[in-house]
This record gives sequence, C-alpha cells and structure tokens, in this order.
Amino acid sequence: MRQTLRLGIMGGTFDPIHYGHLVTAEEALAQFDLERVVFMPTGRPVAKSHQRVTSAEERFLMTVIATAPNRDFEVSRLEIDRPGATYTVDTLEDLHREHPDAELFFITGADAVWEILTWKEPERVASLCRFIAATRPGYDLSRFMESRNGRLVEEKVEFMEVPALAISSTDIRRRVADRRPIRYLVPEAVAAYVHKRHLYAGGAEGV
Ligand code: ATP
Ligand code: MG
Repeated sequence: MRQTLRLGIMGGTFDPIHYGHLVTAEEALAQFDLERVVFMPTGRPVAKSHQRVTSAEERFLMTVIATAPNRDFEVSRLEIDRPGATYTVDTLEDLHREHPDAELFFITGADAVWEILTWKEPERVASLCRFIAATRPGYDLSRFMESRNGRLVEEKVEFMEVPALAISSTDIRRRVADRRPIRYLVPEAVAAYVHKRHLYAGGAEGV
C-alpha cells in the first residue's frame, strides 16, 4: 500500500469560483490519484491589488458552497486568515509544515504556473511541490520548455488537458454587470448567492 499522502492544492481568487476551477480540480484528482483537493482562496492577492476584489469572506463562502457536494474537496482559510499580502511560497511552506510527509501538488492554469516560475523564488517554490498545470487541448507548450526555467518545468510540472478552460471569473463578473446569464458557468447555488448579495452588479472592474 502506498503511504505518501498526495494532496492537491487549488489556489485562486475565486471571485467567483466557476466550473473551470471545479472541472480542473476533479480532473487532477482522477489523473494524479490525489487523496483530496484543498481549495485555497487568496487573502489579498498581490497580483490583483489594482482591482476591486470581493471580500475574502464572501469568496470563501462561495468556494464552500461550490465544493460542498464533493467529498474529496475541502476549503482552507489559511490564506484568508493570514494578515498582509499573499505569497504562494508562504502557503506551501505552511502546508509542508502541517503535512511534512505529504506530496503537494499545486493545481493551476498553465499561465499561472508560468507566472509562479518566473516570479518569486522559483527554486524554493519548486522544492516544496509539484505543479499540475491545466491547458486547453492543443495549447502550445514550447515556450515553457524553452524558457529560463525549462529544467524546472520539465522536472516539476505535469500538464493536463481540461475541456472547460474558456470560463473565467472576469467574464462572469462582466456578465453579471451586463445582466447576462451566468447559469451553467457556475454552480446554481453560487449564481444564487451572487444575485442575493448583489455581487458584481456595480461593474466588472471596480475602482
Ligand atoms: P480572473 O478572471 O479574475 O483572473 P480566474 O477565472 O482566472 O479569475 P482565478 O481565481 O484567478 O480565476 O484562478 C484560480 C486558478 O484557477 C488559477 O490557477 C487559474 O489559472 C485557474 N483557472 C482559472 N480559470 C480556469 C479554467 N477555466 N480552467 C482551468 N483552470 C482555471
Ligand atoms: Mg486568473
């Protein structure tokens, strides 16, 4: 029997969470034989500090609502309860301390893994986890391999094709602001929550 716990981590702003995130997490679970996937809503996202973001509590709640029916999905408050800016590397270190024997798989879109590996301390990040990067069928991976971090990518990144990659939170916020439908892009309970709380109604990108 295998001993090592294989833990997936799906970090994101989740403003709001949508079927792209959920399909990706489920696919990672199945393809990489993960024990469970922990959704980790960001506190104050560094990369998005220029735009208005829904409160951490509301993003957390929508993530809980969306993942509740899946017994292999969990939601963590680790990042939203940490004061100050959020860095992926700090979160991974916390998780590594919490589960020293676990193998951590950080699940992202391919573009996000690119940012992480070209951004802050890529060697340190890569020493803590492997990456599962979601790509669209037919996505061109050559720029990853040819980059300065090509070796890291080869050793640490698994690519996985998912079908729902065209869905984005940005598009969903814009749709709500324009009174266009978001049904079938997010779980029904998330859509209901968005409307009940009047989220995104004041414009897609705020002040
Ligand atoms: P925004 O449009 O505000 O940037 P988003 O839809 O990209 O939002 P995030 O919360 O920023 O959602 O994404 C969290 C993680 O999920 C990131 O790693 C991102 O690359 C990935 N992701 C986002 N949308 C999809 C999708 N449709 N399919 C697979 N992965 C996705
Ligand atoms: Mg994004």
